[in-house]
Amino acid sequence: MRLVIDEKRCKGCNLCTMVCPYHIFKQGKKPNARGVVVPELDRPERCTNCRLRKLYGRTLCGMCQMICPDQAISWEEEKPGVPRKVAIEY
Ligand code: SF4
Ligand code: SF4
Repeated sequence: MRLVIDEKRCKGCNLCTMVCPYHIFKQGKKPNARGVVVPELDRPERCTNCRLRKLYGRTLCGMCQMICPDQAISWEEEKPGVPRKVAIEY
């Protein structure tokens, strides 16, 4: 699975940057077309959900998604043929 932020929904509140135990969300640098500074993702393949959601068949951790006031965070299937990144950190 791949972590995505919906730039049309995000308002740049940065709550997600505070809750992720892996510090996957970082404060963005540039405003987008709506003037919102959307957080950047730092090696999102480390996310528990990205690695194990399919295996367990349900959402794991999910702190970022729960705290996001605009439902801007979700996971999507990788496209076929795109190599899957896997990163594990202890
Ligand atoms: S689900 Fe958990 S580990 Fe994955 S990005 Fe969100 S807060 Fe971080
Ligand atoms: S918590 Fe949601 S709205 Fe706030 S910066 Fe993160 S993705 Fe954007």
